[in-house]
Amino acid sequence: MKASQAGTQDLDRVLSEGSIWRCQQCGLCSGICPSERAGGIRPIGILTRAHQGSLDLREERSLWLCAMCNSCTERCQMGVDPAETIALLRGESANLGNIPKHFSEEAKLFIRSGLSFPNTGMTKKLRKDLGLDELTVPTETMEQLAMLLRKTRLGGLRLE
Ligand code: SF4
Ligand code: SF4
Repeated sequence: MKASQAGTQDLDRVLSEGSIWRCQQCGLCSGICPSERAGGIRPIGILTRAHQGSLDLREERSLWLCAMCNSCTERCQMGVDPAETIALLRGESANLGNIPKHFSEEAKLFIRSGLSFPNTGMTKKLRKDLGLDELTVPTETMEQLAMLLRKTRLGGLRLE
Protein backbone atom coordinates (compact mmCIF):
# COMPACT_ATOMS: atom_id res chain seq x y z
CA MET A 1 0.00 0.00 0.00
CA LYS A 2 1.31 3.40 -0.88
CA ALA A 3 1.57 6.16 1.69
CA SER A 4 -0.62 8.44 -0.38
CA GLN A 5 -3.43 5.85 -0.20
CA ALA A 6 -3.15 5.31 3.50
CA GLY A 7 -5.82 6.09 6.02
CA THR A 8 -5.59 8.60 8.77
CA GLN A 9 -6.61 12.21 8.38
CA ASP A 10 -3.41 13.47 9.99
CA LEU A 11 -1.25 11.46 7.63
CA ASP A 12 -3.29 12.56 4.63
CA ARG A 13 -2.94 16.17 5.78
CA VAL A 14 0.86 15.92 6.08
CA LEU A 15 1.22 14.19 2.73
CA SER A 16 -1.25 16.27 0.77
CA GLU A 17 -0.97 19.77 2.16
CA GLY A 18 1.51 19.63 5.03
CA SER A 19 5.04 20.81 5.51
CA ILE A 20 6.49 17.89 3.56
CA TRP A 21 5.95 19.95 0.41
CA ARG A 22 8.50 22.48 1.61
CA CYS A 23 11.30 19.88 1.65
CA GLN A 24 14.22 20.94 -0.54
CA GLN A 25 16.09 17.65 -0.29
CA CYS A 26 19.04 19.33 1.43
CA GLY A 27 19.77 16.26 3.56
CA LEU A 28 20.39 18.12 6.84
CA CYS A 29 17.85 15.89 8.60
CA SER A 30 19.71 12.78 7.52
CA GLY A 31 23.04 14.31 8.50
CA ILE A 32 21.91 14.79 12.11
CA CYS A 33 19.96 11.55 12.47
CA PRO A 34 21.55 9.21 15.06
CA SER A 35 19.59 6.27 13.73
CA GLU A 36 20.88 6.77 10.18
CA ARG A 37 24.45 6.90 11.46
CA ALA A 38 23.86 3.49 13.00
CA GLY A 39 22.39 2.07 9.78
CA GLY A 40 18.75 2.68 10.76
CA ILE A 41 16.15 5.02 9.29
CA ARG A 42 17.12 7.53 6.59
CA PRO A 43 14.70 10.45 7.10
CA ILE A 44 15.31 12.14 3.74
CA GLY A 45 14.71 8.83 1.97
CA ILE A 46 11.48 8.21 3.89
CA LEU A 47 10.21 11.74 3.14
CA THR A 48 11.08 11.45 -0.52
CA ARG A 49 9.33 8.12 -0.96
CA ALA A 50 6.32 9.27 1.08
CA HIS A 51 6.14 12.39 -1.08
CA GLN A 52 6.32 10.31 -4.26
CA GLY A 53 3.79 7.78 -2.99
CA SER A 54 6.28 4.93 -3.33
CA LEU A 55 6.59 4.04 0.34
CA ASP A 56 5.14 0.61 1.09
CA LEU A 57 3.76 0.90 4.60
CA ARG A 58 2.98 -2.80 4.77
CA GLU A 59 6.67 -3.65 4.38
CA GLU A 60 8.81 -0.67 5.42
CA ARG A 61 10.75 -1.67 8.54
CA SER A 62 13.08 1.31 8.92
CA LEU A 63 10.21 3.44 10.28
CA TRP A 64 10.52 1.44 13.46
CA LEU A 65 14.20 2.34 13.80
CA CYS A 66 13.44 6.03 14.39
CA ALA A 67 14.39 6.99 17.94
CA MET A 68 11.83 9.84 17.99
CA CYS A 69 14.59 12.20 19.12
CA ASN A 70 13.24 15.10 17.01
CA SER A 71 16.74 16.16 15.89
CA CYS A 72 15.70 16.10 12.22
CA THR A 73 12.82 18.49 12.88
CA GLU A 74 15.02 20.84 14.89
CA ARG A 75 17.68 20.87 12.17
CA CYS A 76 15.35 21.45 9.21
CA GLN A 77 15.56 25.04 7.92
CA MET A 78 12.38 24.73 5.89
CA GLY A 79 9.92 24.06 8.68
CA VAL A 80 9.32 20.48 7.57
CA ASP A 81 8.58 18.17 10.45
CA PRO A 82 10.20 14.83 9.53
CA ALA A 83 9.75 13.44 13.05
CA GLU A 84 5.99 14.05 13.01
CA THR A 85 5.70 12.65 9.50
CA ILE A 86 7.61 9.52 10.49
CA ALA A 87 5.44 9.11 13.61
CA LEU A 88 2.28 9.35 11.48
CA LEU A 89 3.68 6.92 8.92
CA ARG A 90 4.57 4.56 11.71
CA GLY A 91 1.05 4.78 13.11
CA GLU A 92 -0.38 3.94 9.72
CA SER A 93 2.07 1.06 9.32
CA ALA A 94 0.87 -0.30 12.65
CA ASN A 95 -2.74 0.02 11.46
CA LEU A 96 -1.75 -2.12 8.48
CA GLY A 97 -0.19 -4.77 10.69
CA ASN A 98 3.41 -3.74 10.04
CA ILE A 99 4.66 -3.56 13.61
CA PRO A 100 7.68 -5.39 15.05
CA LYS A 101 6.85 -8.10 17.56
CA HIS A 102 8.60 -6.49 20.51
CA PHE A 103 6.62 -3.25 19.98
CA SER A 104 3.35 -5.11 19.70
CA GLU A 105 4.12 -7.18 22.82
CA GLU A 106 4.90 -4.01 24.75
CA ALA A 107 1.73 -2.35 23.48
CA LYS A 108 -0.38 -5.36 24.48
CA LEU A 109 1.15 -5.37 27.95
CA PHE A 110 0.52 -1.64 28.32
CA ILE A 111 -3.10 -1.97 27.18
CA ARG A 112 -3.68 -4.87 29.55
CA SER A 113 -1.88 -3.63 32.64
CA GLY A 114 -1.11 0.06 32.27
CA LEU A 115 2.59 -0.84 32.57
CA SER A 116 5.20 -0.88 29.84
CA PHE A 117 7.24 -3.59 31.58
CA PRO A 118 6.25 -6.89 33.18
CA ASN A 119 5.66 -6.69 36.92
CA THR A 120 7.55 -9.90 37.63
CA GLY A 121 8.51 -11.51 40.90
CA MET A 122 11.97 -9.96 40.48
CA THR A 123 10.42 -6.48 40.10
CA LYS A 124 8.35 -7.06 43.24
CA LYS A 125 11.39 -8.25 45.18
CA LEU A 126 13.56 -5.33 44.08
CA ARG A 127 10.85 -2.85 45.03
CA LYS A 128 10.47 -4.50 48.40
CA ASP A 129 14.24 -4.47 48.98
CA LEU A 130 14.28 -0.77 48.10
CA GLY A 131 11.45 -0.06 50.53
CA LEU A 132 9.02 0.84 47.75
CA ASP A 133 5.30 0.07 47.79
CA GLU A 134 3.97 -2.82 45.76
CA LEU A 135 3.30 -1.65 42.24
CA THR A 136 -0.39 -1.29 41.45
CA VAL A 137 -2.21 0.70 38.78
CA PRO A 138 -5.27 2.44 40.27
CA THR A 139 -8.67 1.95 38.65
CA GLU A 140 -8.82 5.67 37.89
CA THR A 141 -5.55 5.42 35.97
CA MET A 142 -6.86 2.46 33.97
CA GLU A 143 -9.97 4.51 33.11
CA GLN A 144 -7.76 7.35 31.90
CA LEU A 145 -5.72 4.83 29.95
CA ALA A 146 -8.89 3.53 28.28
CA MET A 147 -9.70 7.10 27.19
CA LEU A 148 -6.17 7.58 25.82
CA LEU A 149 -6.38 4.27 23.95
CA ARG A 150 -9.57 5.45 22.29
CA LYS A 151 -8.19 8.90 21.44
CA THR A 152 -4.86 7.66 20.10
CA ARG A 153 -6.47 4.61 18.43
CA LEU A 154 -3.82 2.42 20.05
CA GLY A 155 -6.61 0.22 21.42
CA GLY A 156 -7.86 -0.47 17.88
CA LEU A 157 -4.56 -1.75 16.50
CA ARG A 158 -4.24 -5.28 15.16
CA LEU A 159 -1.68 -6.57 17.61
CA GLU A 160 -0.76 -10.17 16.91
S1 SF4 B 1 16.29 19.03 6.45
FE1 SF4 B 1 14.20 19.63 5.87
S2 SF4 B 1 14.38 20.47 3.79
FE2 SF4 B 1 16.26 19.32 4.23
S3 SF4 B 1 15.88 17.26 3.40
FE3 SF4 B 1 15.32 17.22 5.57
S4 SF4 B 1 13.14 17.69 5.63
FE4 SF4 B 1 13.89 18.30 3.59
S1 SF4 C 1 13.40 11.71 15.03
FE1 SF4 C 1 13.94 9.75 14.03
S2 SF4 C 1 14.42 10.32 11.92
FE2 SF4 C 1 14.48 12.22 13.13
S3 SF4 C 1 16.64 12.44 13.72
FE3 SF4 C 1 15.61 11.35 15.39
S4 SF4 C 1 15.91 9.17 14.94
FE4 SF4 C 1 16.34 10.32 13.04
